Amino acid sequence: MYDVSYHRARTVPDALETRSQGDDPTYVAGGQTLIPTMKARLAAPSELIDVSKIEDLIGVCEEGSQVIVGASTTHAAVNSSELLSRRIPSLSALAGQIGDPMVRHRGTMGGSVANNDPSADYPAAVMALGATVRTDRREISADEFFVDLFETALEEDELITAIAYPVPKRATYAKFPNPASRYAMVGVMVAELEDGLVRVAVTGAGSSGVFRWTDAETALSETMDASALKELSVDADDMLEDLHGSADYRAHLVAVMTRRALQSLLAG
Ligand SMILES: Cc1cc2nc3c(=O)[nH]c(=O)nc-3n(C[C@H](O)[C@H](O)[C@H](O)COP(=O)(O)OP(=O)(O)OC[C@H]3O[C@@H](n4cnc5c(N)ncnc54)[C@H](O)[C@@H]3O)c2cc1C
Repeated sequence: MYDVSYHRARTVPDALETRSQGDDPTYVAGGQTLIPTMKARLAAPSELIDVSKIEDLIGVCEEGSQVIVGASTTHAAVNSSELLSRRIPSLSALAGQIGDPMVRHRGTMGGSVANNDPSADYPAAVMALGATVRTDRREISADEFFVDLFETALEEDELITAIAYPVPKRATYAKFPNPASRYAMVGVMVAELEDGLVRVAVTGAGSSGVFRWTDAETALSETMDASALKELSVDADDMLEDLHGSADYRAHLVAVMTRRALQSLLAG
């Protein structure tokens, strides 16, 4: 292991101040992505600023018609949140499908969203529910936040503080997990929002990461029924292709998992 210094931040200003003084600093939360990346020598920060114990970043609360999840809230806490299971049960259920118990007890929503792994689960929820990413300096809509594979609209030192989710009328998430890693081969969230609009977000499949399947959204906004999806498909040219699955396979899975998500949405 090469030299790296570690600082446990107690407050957001403490994290920002420490970061501004480092040579090549980075934030760490659950460490479930960053530490393996460092072990593989794909990242070599000089300072780790741990944001996982900043109290203001932990917890779930209600703000009007939105549920706010602090960035350092673990997947396990999201999964077991009584408030979320009442207001956005699809989100708490999604968190329960991430990785294994160790990953869920260490990994955080902010770390996952900042990392924007193309196979991560939360980006589908953030996108489908039309959530807003709150940072130390601004608010970023889901549609603007996810830029490309492992790339977001965050500035170099910007710290996610929370994600604000509007409570939908109803939503469901259907995931086809990679049997080895449990990451999403394809995961689809279908959400009917309070204003009646339907949003469909797909993770695991897109060659630029999470995306909204707008053809399915338009069709379902007109007819909230499986027949609306019958003739629809995504273009395999826009899908990821890797050792886990071809682009054609992923394109097929997107349609299958969207139908499954819709079925469970309609089943209530
Ligand atoms: C075996 C295994 C299986 C997994 N399976 C799944 C799965 O099925 N589905 C899934 O979605 N994920 C899965 N993951 C990933 C897991 O969810 C991670 O928890 C997540 O990707 C990163 O969260 P973290 O808190 O550990 O972030 P860290 O690893 O600590 O950080 C990741 C990145 O985010 C940055 N960061 C952290 N917090 C903030 C913040 N508040 N503001 C700005 N930047 C920040 C860090 O600087 C770093 O660049 C798996 C991981 C493992 C090891």
